[in-house]
Amino acid sequence: MVTYEDLQVLKSYQPQGDGYVLSLYLDVDQSKAINLNRGFERALNSMLKAVEQELHDARTQQEFELNRERVHRFVKNYIPRKKTLLIFSDATHDFWWEQELPIALPNLARFDHALFLRPLITVLDEHERYGVVLIDQGRARLFTVYLGEVQEHEGVFEEVPPVTQTAGRDRIIAQKRLQRHHDGHVLWHVKQVAERLKELTDLYRFDRLIIGGGRQAVSELQHVLPKSLHRLLIGTFSLPVQASHQEVLRETQKIEVAAERANEEKLVESLVTAAYKGDRAVTGLADTIQAINEGRVWKLLYGKDFSANGYVCSQCSMLYVENRPERCLYCGGSLSPAPNLINRAIERVISAGGQVEEVNDRAAAQLARAGYIGAFLRY
Ligand SMILES: [Zn+2]
Repeated sequence: MVTYEDLQVLKSYQPQGDGYVLSLYLDVDQSKAINLNRGFERALNSMLKAVEQELHDARTQQEFELNRERVHRFVKNYIPRKKTLLIFSDATHDFWWEQELPIALPNLARFDHALFLRPLITVLDEHERYGVVLIDQGRARLFTVYLGEVQEHEGVFEEVPPVTQTAGRDRIIAQKRLQRHHDGHVLWHVKQVAERLKELTDLYRFDRLIIGGGRQAVSELQHVLPKSLHRLLIGTFSLPVQASHQEVLRETQKIEVAAERANEEKLVESLVTAAYKGDRAVTGLADTIQAINEGRVWKLLYGKDFSANGYVCSQCSMLYVENRPERCLYCGGSLSPAPNLINRAIERVISAGGQVEEVNDRAAAQLARAGYIGAFLRY
């Protein structure tokens, strides 16, 4: 599991001097025929070969070779359990980081002066940590769902004492009393769950809360939820309290995707409005790149699948769009082609402590009309 702390380590890693680091994303999903019988190793080899062919000086090739050997040594004994293997390696400075992700990502290899974190950040950004409570009138279960994996936390809620059958003299009165007794217990149970949830939210660090289970219990829990938890609640679903982990995961993911898309639409909407008013926002490639060069971007938005070529200053790393000046405006250095300018833009924003959000579907279509890319600015 990639943790928040992992990401901080990766974000802050810079190869020393003009050193290189190898970034690898390898599809190892064993449900795909092509990856069986260690087919992923063939894909890895051809990827590394392609990277090698782009290296021109002997020193860089030598550095690359050290990393390739390291990767081969690791992969030889590696047994895939999830969908994607991530490796970041800087052999010269003894930096190595490897993890498996339960999410599918395309094969990618980069040998560059910085870690290629874009795909990883995109995945982490798309997946928040969800707390899911499954409740009925007598039971409650707690799950966390993160990066496509569900985990149950057993025994975190107390049980409601079972309602016992009584054979009273006057059955009707007894049953009414029983019903009141039962209702009282149900309410007590729901309140207990709500109360306990506050502590569990801190303990398991949910970004969002989802409530599922029996219709009535779900609605009762919503009513007694403390304000701080109400703000985290993004959806409810109906399932029997004894549902399987798979069922809980499926219902959670439906809510997750819808919430993420709605959030992206709101973001693009406010970006376009702010840019129109000239209120610390820009849209379009040229203005966005300029804002990045000036270090003003705090949140970069780009449409999924948007790509553009450009130029980068070979001295100071400033970025330029196709329509460029003769030499760098900041230092007078010469400009060299930068295929996939967006990756570089993302890296720059992230390394300056900014955020990056890839938007999809309707949000992407709306952003496309405003120039495919844009940013909220610090000033
Ligand atoms: Zn320059």
